[in-house]
Amino acid sequence: MKEAIIVGGGLAGGAAATLLAQAGRPVLLLEREAEPVDKVCGEFLSIEAQHHLARLGLDLDHLGATRIGTLRVAFGRRTVETPLPFVARGLTRKRLDSALLDRAANAGARIERGFTVRSIAPGRIDTSRGELRSDLLLLASGKHEVRGAGRDVAGCDAGYVGFKTYWRLPRRARTGLDGQIDVILFDGGYAGLQMVEGEVANLCLLIEKSRLAALGGNWAGVLDALLREPHAAALLGDAEQCSPKPLTIAGVPYGFLHRADPAETAFRLGDQAAVIPSFCGEGMAIALHSAAVAAAVIGEGARAADHHAILRRDFQRRLRLSIALQRAGQKTWSRELVLKTLRLWPGVAKHIIALTRIPSDPTDGRHHGLSPRR
Ligand SMILES: Cc1cc2nc3c(=O)[nH]c(=O)nc-3n(C[C@H](O)[C@H](O)[C@H](O)COP(=O)(O)OP(=O)(O)OC[C@H]3O[C@@H](n4cnc5c(N)ncnc54)[C@H](O)[C@@H]3O)c2cc1C
Repeated sequence: MKEAIIVGGGLAGGAAATLLAQAGRPVLLLEREAEPVDKVCGEFLSIEAQHHLARLGLDLDHLGATRIGTLRVAFGRRTVETPLPFVARGLTRKRLDSALLDRAANAGARIERGFTVRSIAPGRIDTSRGELRSDLLLLASGKHEVRGAGRDVAGCDAGYVGFKTYWRLPRRARTGLDGQIDVILFDGGYAGLQMVEGEVANLCLLIEKSRLAALGGNWAGVLDALLREPHAAALLGDAEQCSPKPLTIAGVPYGFLHRADPAETAFRLGDQAAVIPSFCGEGMAIALHSAAVAAAVIGEGARAADHHAILRRDFQRRLRLSIALQRAGQKTWSRELVLKTLRLWPGVAKHIIALTRIPSDPTDGRHHGLSPRR
């Protein structure tokens, strides 16, 4: 069997390495970070992501993941609570990604850390440690572009900057957040706050670039604006930020969906295949789903173009809907509408959430069969 080379050891790369190695294929995974690191991510694991992780043999209880059953939306002084249609989990990416790479190594994959891929061309990979050759390349470098395989992100919604920090909350605030994810809407953006393992809270927020500039272009200005929101002030006012500097990310191409090209040989996974708006909490499910599809397609001897066509079929409708919701959510009137609707019909949230879900099984027939509809 041909050796598969995987670029990137996040969730997509780790999942693909595990599945391919379990199928008996030689796998080499190249990850540029020498050690596990924190990532900009809300760390909200949807039910679809949980299904994938369970199939990969990861035990979220054992890893210490928190449980999240309620969504609370706050806008100004008002808050609305609604049950989620599933129990979500909260777990740091540092712990999750590292557990998945351990899993891949146990399945027989060779994991090389501190190994940066500089560029790729059909059959050839230029790395920080020399050139490698393989006809089976999987690109899972997340938001980072690799020369020779840049994404075509024209027309995507890239006008946001993301920030992520961990917080130690006072006991009362911690109890108030237990079992919930809080989404705080503020002028020009929104923040998600939830507990992860180790009794810390993950604060992850997105803000429009123009609003960030108006706030001084820095974290101090953003935090100041957030803490002027009564709900954020109640939870974070007396809390301690675990590290002085947040992690940041800019220019995430929301709505990106790779187009199948018959000439393409690399299999794109995760954010290299599709990027769904963060508020959906489905980016990790996309990463895991794309890895499962790639492993199945490779197992059947099919081509990268088939893989990309299947992903397009699985993701397109959900991406369109979630981008429309993200755009609508920028308007004050629509935020008012969301709050009123949730208050009057809490069940509506479940339907909207259901419409933006990603398939959790690439092999369960009717919806996710492996032959792309052409
Ligand atoms: C603000 C924000 C909040 C989010 N919140 C959530 C959420 O709550 N729930 C959710 O499900 N999703 C969320 N997401 C989306 C989710 O984080 C991503 O979709 C997911 O991490 C994609 O996984 P991946 O494996 O494709 O990429 P990554 O997890 O980014 O992994 C890519 C890996 O490739 C490595 N790499 C990059 N370039 C190279 C190279 N040249 N050579 C070698 N290695 C390389 C990187 O070091 C990294 O480890 C959020 C995203 C953002 C921006």
